[in-house]
Amino acid sequence: MSLVFDHVGKRFPDGTVALADVSFEVPAGQFCVILGRSGAGKSTLLRCVNGLATPGSGKVTVGGVEVAAATLRRLRPRIGMIHQSFNLVPRASVATNVIAGALPAVSTGRALLGLFPRTLRQKACALIADVGLGEAHLQRRVASLSGGQQQRVGIARAFMLEPDYVLADEPVASLDPQTSLEIMALIRREAKQRGATVLCSLHQIDLAMRFADRILALREGRVVFDGPPKALASSGLGQIYDLVRSEPCSSPQVMHA
Ligand code: ADP
Repeated sequence: MSLVFDHVGKRFPDGTVALADVSFEVPAGQFCVILGRSGAGKSTLLRCVNGLATPGSGKVTVGGVEVAAATLRRLRPRIGMIHQSFNLVPRASVATNVIAGALPAVSTGRALLGLFPRTLRQKACALIADVGLGEAHLQRRVASLSGGQQQRVGIARAFMLEPDYVLADEPVASLDPQTSLEIMALIRREAKQRGATVLCSLHQIDLAMRFADRILALREGRVVFDGPPKALASSGLGQIYDLVRSEPCSSPQVMHA
């Protein structure tokens, strides 16, 4: 059930290299943070997992299945997504937004008619409670919720189909520091409870150190560090900043570009 990047490269038509020879394997159940500055290639890396970006070289395999046009229909229901800007339907209710997480498993006709099976509706209610929202929130429009509450809705939606893999793209970038801690803890808790594998992109070192089982730092599309938070810490804060912000450093965990 591991998630594997095998020499993945991605160059955009304008010549920008977003990923360069990226290789790593994330074992089942690991909470792996992809750390890097803006533009480092984090979103592109996540998008290669759910097929929104296609590598120019190398391949990505999810639980032994290569991500490709022919396998996406099969893979997508197994991959939950949590977005930076929540990606919810603001005018729709909390319940509607959460149950939309089941769309990959429901026929288009039924979905258009809003005909979700009872089990899915019950599942949505249970998840909404799980992420700390009450019954009073079920029919509230998402637009009326705080940012932190909206991301709770996003998390509930991501777990609707009990995904084996969760991709979280800067899930706390638009939240205040206290709410960020709560949301990171919630994503980690929900994933660990289910044994789901997480790839979570972040630009904040402190959050990565606190919540990751493993940190994979990207700089200009290359992996410049891959190891546990402790190893990143022992390389020294100045070096960490170098690692993420400018030059790679020379600790054994650091991979030279
Ligand atoms: P991050 O998520 O770390 O901010 P991205 O993966 O979004 O990084 O971007 C990596 C690099 O690829 C950046 O230099 C960005 O400008 C570039 N990039 C992203 N999308 C495109 C695109 N559609 N066309 C050209 N360049 C792109």
